[in-house]
Amino acid sequence: MKNVILIAPPAAGKGTLSKYLTDTFGYVQLSTGDMLRERAEEDTKLKEIMKTGKLIDDKTVFEALEAKLNKLGDTPYILDGFPRTVTQAVMYDELLQNMGKDLGVVIYLDVDKEELKKRVVTRLVCPKCRASYSTRNESLLPKKEGLCDNCRLELIQREDDTEEVFDKRYNEYLEKTSPLIDYYESKGLLVRISSSDANEIFKEASSLVRNA
Ligand code: AMP
Repeated sequence: MKNVILIAPPAAGKGTLSKYLTDTFGYVQLSTGDMLRERAEEDTKLKEIMKTGKLIDDKTVFEALEAKLNKLGDTPYILDGFPRTVTQAVMYDELLQNMGKDLGVVIYLDVDKEELKKRVVTRLVCPKCRASYSTRNESLLPKKEGLCDNCRLELIQREDDTEEVFDKRYNEYLEKTSPLIDYYESKGLLVRISSSDANEIFKEASSLVRNA
């Protein structure tokens, strides 16, 4: 199984697809957002920056990522939320070369901005396992209202899941992350999935991963 990079605007379903691929194929999910949120519990400065929706500096991100990669060995993994910029992608290429690892396949989730905005304000997450739910999409409702299916803990809204912060995160995405689409397309590594139906996305991604 090849490693997977997921590129998508905020709230396009990176976390949900990662979880599906992890549960179905035994991948390990590496979310830089989750790693940074964990660090931010003990780092108020980091927490403040994350609240604004701005990107965190490369040094902090690579420190967190490298620590996880070193522990992984040869287990295939899904990168969720990384790389976020072409600079990070170039640095990551170098890191992989040094570690003797293969980049794998890049999946781009192409979702319309207005749809994303609706998702952000109806998204709930588990404070422990970070599983993501929606109060508006039937296939993503928790089994019991307001509770995580796995941990039974009360679901919460992420601090950056407001319309105002979404606009900032989306602009950051457009300016800094979307150039990655060309970067990986030109290397022949990118596959685009344009559906906004979760099951359709799971199906397409499964067949990609199986063929990878
Ligand atoms: P996410 O959970 O992927 O939406 O990320 C939440 C926040 O974490 C982002 O708005 C950034 O502040 C930070 N973040 C996550 N991944 C990265 C990254 N690769 N580079 C810089 N900042 C990141």
